[in-house]
Amino acid sequence: DKIGPVPVRAALQDALDLLAPQLNASGVKVVFSPPEAEIEVMGGRVRLQQVIVNLLTNAIDAMEAAPVRRIDIGIERREDRLTLRLRDHGPGIDEAARDQLFDPFFTTKETGKGLGLGLSISYNIIRDFGGRMSAENHPGGGAVFTVDLAVAPRSA
Ligand code: ADP
Ligand code: MG
Repeated sequence: DKIGPVPVRAALQDALDLLAPQLNASGVKVVFSPPEAEIEVMGGRVRLQQVIVNLLTNAIDAMEAAPVRRIDIGIERREDRLTLRLRDHGPGIDEAARDQLFDPFFTTKETGKGLGLGLSISYNIIRDFGGRMSAENHPGGGAVFTVDLAVAPRSA
């Protein structure tokens, strides 16, 4: 999974297709209006999809008992950077968990339900792409995970 230009819209769609059974089973709707034109970012396609699957899986878990079960996905380009945002409508990130979110083996899930590796692996993958990953709570409720990546330079 070499680092090179990855079509981000297609990678996202593949991750969503892969998780369609889980999304359906948990009654989670995904709102994703991709940009008209495909954008390529610098990364590895398999690893980028793994990150997206990790974030979607966490969002599904977080909304298990939530009245609104929806994931809003946004893609925003600013010059040579692309920002991918996933917002869920769960309870948000626990204040006590904030500082350890990306630590290996940190989990708030009951034994057997989570290893606590998803976010730490994802963080390292995005860092290896020269990108950044962060998490915050949305003022309107729910968690927001942001992935910032470099837009692939245009091939001549
Ligand atoms: P795991 O899913 O196995 O617990 P992760 O590394 O994927 O491990 O996540 C670590 C922890 O971060 C979770 O146990 C949870 O406490 C918190 N977390 C992750 N995603 C969310 C989310 N969307 N909303 C609220 N908390 C979250
Ligand atoms: Mg996880």
